[in-house]
Amino acid sequence: MTRKIAILGATGSIGKSTLDLVERNPEQSEVVAVTAATNVQELAAIARRTNASLAVIADESRLADLHASLEGTHCQAAAGRGALLEAAAVEADLVIAAIVGCAGLEPVMAAVNAGRTVALANKEALVTAGALMIDAAETSGATLLPVDSEHNAIFQCLAGSDGKGVSRIILTASGGPFWTATADQLREATPEQAVAHPKWNMGAKISVDSATLMNKGLELIEAHYLFGLPSNQIDVLIHPQSVVHSLVEFMDGSVLAQLGSPDMRIPIAYALAWPERMETPAQRLDLAAVARLDFEQPDLDRFPALRLARAAMEEGGSAPAVLNAANEVAVASFLNGRIRFTEIPRLVERALEENRRAAPDTIEEVFEIDGDVRRAVAGAVEEMCA
Ligand code: NAD
Ligand code: MG
Repeated sequence: MTRKIAILGATGSIGKSTLDLVERNPEQSEVVAVTAATNVQELAAIARRTNASLAVIADESRLADLHASLEGTHCQAAAGRGALLEAAAVEADLVIAAIVGCAGLEPVMAAVNAGRTVALANKEALVTAGALMIDAAETSGATLLPVDSEHNAIFQCLAGSDGKGVSRIILTASGGPFWTATADQLREATPEQAVAHPKWNMGAKISVDSATLMNKGLELIEAHYLFGLPSNQIDVLIHPQSVVHSLVEFMDGSVLAQLGSPDMRIPIAYALAWPERMETPAQRLDLAAVARLDFEQPDLDRFPALRLARAAMEEGGSAPAVLNAANEVAVASFLNGRIRFTEIPRLVERALEENRRAAPDTIEEVFEIDGDVRRAVAGAVEEMCA
């Protein structure tokens, strides 16, 4: 059976890994829509290669370019927010949500409201509007398939249990490039060092999040919404080899884990083929070569982002959206060389203290909170740089 798929964020790291699998298995899926933020040339090349019928560039000023680049194809070119939402809700069997940041929230919600099956990589969308998204999926009948490797691992471990009898889940974290760094080294960390992840090759934003451990914090919140578990049933363990992608402990003491080489094509393939499986070119796990698997508790003093995220999850309401918005601005400021690495969690902590708001009832309210916090944190960065 050929599945129709839409890829939101087709030019990114997850988008490219998805395309790699799709192009290796042309009989399995048909790409109907692809989107990107600004890179017209790459988007057009993807649309040509996949024979997509809709290509959307988020940046409206590039529509003419996109038209020109797609000349001679049957692919429709479109741009802007409305077109992005159209691509998200296009008639498809699977929507790959691989936009980075809160920018992906509206498209993900459009796919969810349309009742689609959504392969969700865009964790920020779930972090900022988790309760609303889970409700919307229940109403529309949409299915969320977690692509984030940890959540995909848990999803695989839960298969067959119907979610019953779970006592806790354990998210693993590689620890990122600075796990063994001293406090002084953390202060001096550069963007180049931060994006050089030891185990995974990912987009810049998530790489910095992995270095601060905010990525694991966002994943805590992601797990809370996806699996409906409270804070005291979600643990985090540092596991530098990145072989065990996460674990589920059941009430009888059994623990199930999903293992594999650190290659995002494995969780993406699980979502692409679900509820079946498909071949991938991912390296097979050679446990004798890995030889040992280490686990240790995260250090919340050197990596306060994880503590902040857990507190935001426990507080609920608007706190996760505040945390995420502050983090997005802080990470961008760090990548632009404007603030120190260790200032990222400080800005997030300050934003959480200064922005106590009622829980958002609508997506519009989420965007209001997001916008206000972005402005406040951008102001704080200006002050620091003045
Ligand atoms: P990336 O930066 O490589 O790609 C992001 C994609 O989103 C690009 O196609 C870009 O054009 C698009 N995009 C960015 N801003 C946009 C905007 N304002 N409007 C519309 N489109 C926009 O990011 P990535 O590493 O592929 O990560 C994508 C998502 O998947 C993130 O939420 C990340 O946390 C999650 N994720 C990634 C990995 C990984 O291995 N890369 C693993 C787990 C989860
Ligand atoms: Mg992950």
